[in-house]
Amino acid sequence: IEQTFIMIKPDAVRDRKTGQIIDRIERSGLTIEKMEKCVLDEETVKVHYAHLADKPFFPSLVAFMTSGPVVKMVVSGLSAVSKMRTLMGATNPLDAAPGTIRGDFAVDVNANVIHGSDSLENAAIEIERFFG
Ligand code: ATP
Ligand code: MG
Repeated sequence: IEQTFIMIKPDAVRDRKTGQIIDRIERSGLTIEKMEKCVLDEETVKVHYAHLADKPFFPSLVAFMTSGPVVKMVVSGLSAVSKMRTLMGATNPLDAAPGTIRGDFAVDVNANVIHGSDSLENAAIEIERFFG
């Protein structure tokens, strides 16, 4: 059993897609262990996306991620990390397959609906960062 960190981003929360996204996660057989709606502070977002700090889109990414509430979760289950990445679809919604969360709900790469940890190691770091 693995745990992964999932976050429904401000665009999807604003558009009231939270319920539909949670439904997909649960229907895939994964379990929501923890869940909280909150507004992220700039510092947390900068640390979370530190690997992208030198990208031209970094300032707009930080602005977007602090623009409204997110719903953060710890999700558990067999192969939870890779299962969630598959369920989410590609980072760029233009490349995300129909039937994936991003493929069905996201329209642009700046606001792509959901975050999921990309490795078991990062999942542990992110769960600690967001749930302490
Ligand atoms: P996330 O970490 O949010 O789950 P990811 O792991 O699929 O997404 P990363 O490479 O970690 O992709 O990028 C983090 C986020 O930065 C993306 O989800 C997206 O919001 C933003 N991003 C990535 N690439 C671009 C880009 N080329 N233009 C604009 N925003 C981007
Ligand atoms: Mg990532």
